[in-house]
Amino acid sequence: MGKGKMRPVTDALARKPAPLVRAALASLVWLACLCGAAHAEAPFTFDATPGRLPKTVIPHDYAIELTPDAKALTFSGTEVIDIEVREPTARLVLNAVNMTLSEATVDDKTRSEISLDAASETATLSLREPLAAGAHRLRIVFAGKISSFARGLYYADYPTAQGTKRMISSQLEPSDARRIFPCWDEPAFKATFTLTATVPSNFLAVGNMPVVREEAISASQKRVSFAPTPKMSSYLFVFTAGELERITENAGGVTVGVVTTQGKSEQGRFALDNAVKLLGFYNDYFGTAYPLPKLDLIAVPGGFGGAMENWGGITFFESRLLFDPTSSPDSARRGIFSVLAHEMAHQWFGDLVTMGWWDNLWLNEGFASWMQEKAAEQFFPQWKTWLNGYGQKQHAMALDARRTSHPIQQKVNDESEALTAFDGITYNKGQAFIRMLENYLGENAFRDGLRRYMAAHAYGNATTADLWQALGEATGKPVASIAASFTEQDGVPLVIAETHCAGKKQRLSLNQERFAIVPPRTASAGSSETGLPPRSWQLPVRLGLVGGRDAETVLLNGNDEIAAGRCGEPIKVNLGDIGYYRVEYGPNDRAALVKSLETMTPEDRVEFLADSWALLQAGRTDVSSYLALIGKLAPNDQRAVWDQVIGVLAHLNRLARDRSERPDLQAYARGILRPAFDRLGWDGAGAPDDDEAPLRANLISALGDFGDDDIIAEAKRRFERFRQDPNSLPAALRDPVMHVVGIAADKPAYEALLALARKATATNERLRYYFALASARDPVLARETLGLTLKDELPNTIISGIIATVASAGEQPELAWDFVQKHYDALSAKLGPSFGDSFIPNLMTNFNDGAHIAELLQFAPAQATSGGKVMTARAVETIAIAADLKSRALPAVEAWIKQQASTRP
Ligand SMILES: [Zn+2]
Repeated sequence: MGKGKMRPVTDALARKPAPLVRAALASLVWLACLCGAAHAEAPFTFDATPGRLPKTVIPHDYAIELTPDAKALTFSGTEVIDIEVREPTARLVLNAVNMTLSEATVDDKTRSEISLDAASETATLSLREPLAAGAHRLRIVFAGKISSFARGLYYADYPTAQGTKRMISSQLEPSDARRIFPCWDEPAFKATFTLTATVPSNFLAVGNMPVVREEAISASQKRVSFAPTPKMSSYLFVFTAGELERITENAGGVTVGVVTTQGKSEQGRFALDNAVKLLGFYNDYFGTAYPLPKLDLIAVPGGFGGAMENWGGITFFESRLLFDPTSSPDSARRGIFSVLAHEMAHQWFGDLVTMGWWDNLWLNEGFASWMQEKAAEQFFPQWKTWLNGYGQKQHAMALDARRTSHPIQQKVNDESEALTAFDGITYNKGQAFIRMLENYLGENAFRDGLRRYMAAHAYGNATTADLWQALGEATGKPVASIAASFTEQDGVPLVIAETHCAGKKQRLSLNQERFAIVPPRTASAGSSETGLPPRSWQLPVRLGLVGGRDAETVLLNGNDEIAAGRCGEPIKVNLGDIGYYRVEYGPNDRAALVKSLETMTPEDRVEFLADSWALLQAGRTDVSSYLALIGKLAPNDQRAVWDQVIGVLAHLNRLARDRSERPDLQAYARGILRPAFDRLGWDGAGAPDDDEAPLRANLISALGDFGDDDIIAEAKRRFERFRQDPNSLPAALRDPVMHVVGIAADKPAYEALLALARKATATNERLRYYFALASARDPVLARETLGLTLKDELPNTIISGIIATVASAGEQPELAWDFVQKHYDALSAKLGPSFGDSFIPNLMTNFNDGAHIAELLQFAPAQATSGGKVMTARAVETIAIAADLKSRALPAVEAWIKQQASTRP
């Protein structure tokens, strides 16, 4: 805030010590608490880094020959690994799983005995005599299978005008390089990799590095040799081959390419142009130029979950990379840019400098997630990427308020646990914390710290401590102590803000405690009401007058009281929604803010709404406090604001699925959303990058979900016209129209969607139709959709999503769960280990009752691995929280709606 209106207490009359003294006391308190903490992390050293392989042998270089047989779904290979033996040993332990090793020799003469252990995913090579310390050469002959699911080498079948075709690709993070070739498959074992692959002559083969040689070895086969990679971790290896095509651009000497199946490369133009821009931006930002001669962006049709930052060869689910203006909404470019910027940031954060072990995965993911938004702000400020992406932080805070949360830096014992680390905490809390830290340290100082970090650890590994050291050196601020409270402990801070008048001046007290949303059964068990241990943070709190004037940042350490303008002026805490914490106001302060809702910036309005909803979930306030707010919103408010409201109403609607009051809730939701939609109407061009089109799409989908008859009828009408004339339906309306037609589908509409799905060859269109028909609420049709997942019709990688959609959008969780139990073996064989580990627990979160908690706990395959146990515990808590909210909030919401209806004039 403006000088003089609000500043920290510094006058001699204040009873609190002056800031310098306070800072000194704070650091003493801080040191004291770190001494008692479980660990303060050390900088990276190879020997101390966690992992499961012995560190007595280090690989330096792999020369790998692979011969995949895409028809038989097998591959064979040989590899020569230059190793360094650090102390004499007769046993070499490396990773290998789902493969056979037929031969292993050391230094071209000594054959070793080979034993494989499926549980630890290792191969042990035993020699008669110990190997002397020093350099040796290991040669292994192996063979394996090409998977139907995206782990290791996998295949993707895709439809074309000439019939179904097959390509192969790889997906290795965190620990599936061991499914392609035996290796030291932990991120600290960095080495160089030189690949040679034998593939059909009409295939294009893509690796991490450029092709240096291609030779025909028969009429139908060729041998492709790639240049050696720089030193890197094994999970960053990539190999893709198929009937592919490539377009390229030169970016300051680096060849940037988009690789697609035939006929689609021009749809990669948007990504290619932006990749060139991003490369220049990152080269400058990180202060270290992209070190490889090429960077390919590879679109895999059907593909796998999202995208993977393999060094020099990023793989993408096809619809996350390609943009077809005739069938994709204009706003799809935002998603493509965001994923591209994320994966390209990884080329530095992750690939050039890699976390030592999966306990520091957030160093990769938190940073890439933050950088994707920062880059979007740089190139497309009109997208308002932080405002529209507000939900990412909300998602993290929802998870982090629970008992099953975990610190950003978490202990990871094995590979199945590493998989569980790819979650909302790692990505989104990491992202939000970095944003807050950058804001506090200053943009330039923060960047200088990152440049130091890159320079110091290039081609090596690092821990979070290494990053804080570099940032501390660059900024001169106590970065490590601020950061540790966010990265080494779990939990969401709650700032309780209350003003009072002293004479004409206003003072603001800021107290912090831990914010929690936990099921009631655990609420009495521990040291506080929630049963969760208390926490405290060093928290940069940005505050100011509503509208954003007179902002200032206070480093809140424990509790504080500061001068805050004139009496009665409404103070907004977490101004701009930059901080990772929730805010609860005193009653008068809250009332003043509610009055000023309209004059808040959209960022502050979204934050105020989201906090109000969270406080309700936590049982700290009643439903009217949130519902009264949404009744005050203007129809022309921003998309992010309406998205927040839609999210809450949809959640309540899900909880109310089997209640007789549901129609009233839905009518109420329609009444809230309809004015916003009516302002926009069905048609309207809008400027290319504004939020009208995506807001219209979200409102149509939501109103359809809430049973708006007009919307459903109009969607059906437009769908019929589209079937006659595809050009009649603009790309921006296709997702919402198909969704609404899908949920309301009768048999003929379902058949029409299915025919469209079967005819489409573009991934985005296939997905749109298949997900629309999976949303059908008619149980007969839902059964039909579930049946499709057992056939060969759907790409394997979307099967889980289809079943999940039947449970969620289709509102048939019982059918989906019965189906999955009945066909568990068949589905699991098709979809791989993650089907039991993570899909099943996630599917069960569509329920909100104790009986299904018991069923999940009794379902053994979900808990076969330690990672599965973690996912199950999280799901159990999610279900219990939903059950609690249902019993507590729904009756109150229903009563509130009734009362509103009766007081209406
Ligand atoms: Zn990532």
